[in-house]
Amino acid sequence: MENLKSRIVADYHTHTIYSRNNHGKGTIRENVEKAVELGLKEIYITDHGPGHYLFGIRKNSILKARKEVDKLKEEFAGIIDIFLGVEANVIGYDGTFDITEEYKDYFDIINLGFHNGVLFKDFYSFFHYHVINNIKISKKVLDYITKKNTQAIIKIIEKENIFTITHPGDKVPVDIEMLASACERTNTALEINSSHRNLTVEQLKKIKGSSVMLTLGSDAHRPQYVGNLEFALRRLEEAKIDSSRVLNFKRRER
Ligand SMILES: [Zn+2]
Ligand SMILES: [Zn+2]
Repeated sequence: MENLKSRIVADYHTHTIYSRNNHGKGTIRENVEKAVELGLKEIYITDHGPGHYLFGIRKNSILKARKEVDKLKEEFAGIIDIFLGVEANVIGYDGTFDITEEYKDYFDIINLGFHNGVLFKDFYSFFHYHVINNIKISKKVLDYITKKNTQAIIKIIEKENIFTITHPGDKVPVDIEMLASACERTNTALEINSSHRNLTVEQLKKIKGSSVMLTLGSDAHRPQYVGNLEFALRRLEEAKIDSSRVLNFKRRER
């Protein structure tokens, strides 16, 4: 693992104080400085999308975050590349997410995940996410909702440019094989999250035969956890997945 660890150049998933209500603890600068200390070459700032009513970045702070990143990019030029991303939320089972057209251009990348604490766009979506996912009544219901959850993500990645799906299966179940094949088709990655259990080793084994790309994310909510990818690496190794499938070892093509 030491060998793989030393080859990591990027952390694609970190939060800052732009994730509101004391959810993220550090500033963008602090995350960048930690990444530099670790010798990373790329750091991605990906606070919760505005559809999260507790922790989401405020819409009127997005431009501020963009300017802050642009300033730091100049300061750290030649040392590390800094990207402004976002961890967008699924807010509708019809394939709606919480980054509207007017905000898309502010972000270098958009990650996407399911989260609790999201304001769903309609009752149908609210009911599916919060109620049907929690009726643990039969396999039939579980299969139904698993398919619905998966399709909600697929509908979004089919029309939007999503970089990676964060912690797939963590909040609600997904059909990982169905999702992986849609990700292959749409050039979207799947995340092995170092702070959550998904992707699990079991899920990784299921998608071993596909060619879907993978990302490792620390999901750091404090600067000291930036670049903390060991748990994710461990799962990658346990599932015996070739490192050529992981994006973190190569710098971004531009
Ligand atoms: Zn998340
Ligand atoms: Zn996160």
